[in-house]
Amino acid sequence: MRTLFHNHLVQKSFWCMSAATILWSGLHLPAAQAASMGSQSPPASVSSKTDVIPTDKAALLSARRELYEQISAATGIPWFRFAAIDQYERTVAKKSKTAPQHLTKLTGITIPPPLWSGPLNPDQEDTSPQSISFFGGFGSDGSGDGRADPGNDADVLYSMARHLLHYGQSSSDFSIAIWEYYHNGRASQRINQFAKLYEHFGRLDLSGNAFPLPLGNTYAYRSTWGTGRSWGGARIHEGTDLFTPHGTPVRSTCYGIVETKGWNRYGGWRIGIRDIDNRYHYYAHLTGYDKKLAQGDIVQPGQTIGWVGSSGYGSPGTQGKFPPHLHFGIYKDRGITEWAFDPYPLLKQWENQEYRARRNKNK
Ligand SMILES: [Zn+2]
Repeated sequence: MRTLFHNHLVQKSFWCMSAATILWSGLHLPAAQAASMGSQSPPASVSSKTDVIPTDKAALLSARRELYEQISAATGIPWFRFAAIDQYERTVAKKSKTAPQHLTKLTGITIPPPLWSGPLNPDQEDTSPQSISFFGGFGSDGSGDGRADPGNDADVLYSMARHLLHYGQSSSDFSIAIWEYYHNGRASQRINQFAKLYEHFGRLDLSGNAFPLPLGNTYAYRSTWGTGRSWGGARIHEGTDLFTPHGTPVRSTCYGIVETKGWNRYGGWRIGIRDIDNRYHYYAHLTGYDKKLAQGDIVQPGQTIGWVGSSGYGSPGTQGKFPPHLHFGIYKDRGITEWAFDPYPLLKQWENQEYRARRNKNK
């Protein structure tokens, strides 16, 4: 029995590494078939169409968008909620050398075996919708081939959709469903943030960055990653200091959502923005913020969010303990922990990109 199921799993992907393309089956749902997914009985016919996972970024994003829209049409759940769950899982996934999932699946969502097949199911690789359902597993057949395959995009998203539908369609229902699924406050915060970003911009591609200060020769910065700091004990310097006069505008470096705003003992008046790649952009020592900006607001690259100052290193309001500068840091969320990484190379890159774009415009 087990071997049989194993063979099924192996069969699902046909590789052609030399052409850097992967042929696979199961995603494309004819409209009638997709519509029948909303009902209790799974679709009857099997889609025999084979697809290629695009390697080109734009094509990949449009294939993902199409997948979300299809499941959305079948279940009534907005596409951006699938996109948010998918993106969250992709940003916290451990890179696996043995099974490069991004080559065989469009989504990054992985529903672990005990959840998929049911915790008490003796066959943890079960793909029979009937026995999975008997053991209270998540796995459902969304592709219409009669199997609930955790490696099939339509099956995975449809199974997730069914979980969400238990709770309802409002955004607070969605929050509860996500909480119940992950039991991790950080995960539910991220997924809600991502859903908000996708809904606001109406697209999956939210790449694009800006240098945090207006270009010019009024600032100076260098790589100071990990050097000691004079205040606050033996912490390393997790960021880059950009020295510039008091009052210089500070701009958002990314498309993102305001996650924190307020006083911090080290950072003074600081603001933290989460981007769609689950990176936290941190701007410290400000003299003030854009008045309209509140927690949960959405920002774009280049948008003014505040002004350079010298606040921090003390109780709220402390200023002038050091020359005015912007402290800029980036932290990457890995699901359980958050890591700081050196923002200097990115700052250089964004600065160069902006100079290049400006030159091209002037031509
Ligand atoms: Zn600093």
